[in-house]
Amino acid sequence: MKNTECTVCCKNKTALQCDQCSSASCKHCCYFIDENCFEFQSLLPEELQGKIFCPNCYHESISDKIELLQETLRAAKQMDIYGKEQSAETRLIRRQAKLLRIKDCDDRKEILIQLAFLAAQQGFNTLVDVDLRSTKVNNGSYVKTIWSGTASPVNK
Ligand SMILES: [Zn+2]
Ligand SMILES: [Zn+2]
Repeated sequence: MKNTECTVCCKNKTALQCDQCSSASCKHCCYFIDENCFEFQSLLPEELQGKIFCPNCYHESISDKIELLQETLRAAKQMDIYGKEQSAETRLIRRQAKLLRIKDCDDRKEILIQLAFLAAQQGFNTLVDVDLRSTKVNNGSYVKTIWSGTASPVNK
């Protein structure tokens, strides 16, 4: 394997390729979009998930996007959440927006944050009628639990 010199620090010879412009920068100079950068990779658009960006691309076009997504994630984490079984408490809240629906999720925490994230993206602060269901899927050698769920986004 040919070693590529980092075009940023010009010191390291093991540079990685930027996923946007293909220029080479080493692991100390480039930016990884991993769990340390953004906690829930599944919430990121595909062009950001697990990608590597050189400092130029990162500062020019990626950091703003990540910043906005972090803001949405913060809002998602603060979302007021009411389950379907709490309908007595939420019956006076008007449901106007389309029902949110997530399918094929690996765990409960993840599906809840996905629903909350969608709601936050649309400018809502509350989820009502949250209905999460799990099914066991036999995957040959092991049994896997798959989650799906629906919720109505509202503003309280
Ligand atoms: Zn470097
Ligand atoms: Zn780049």
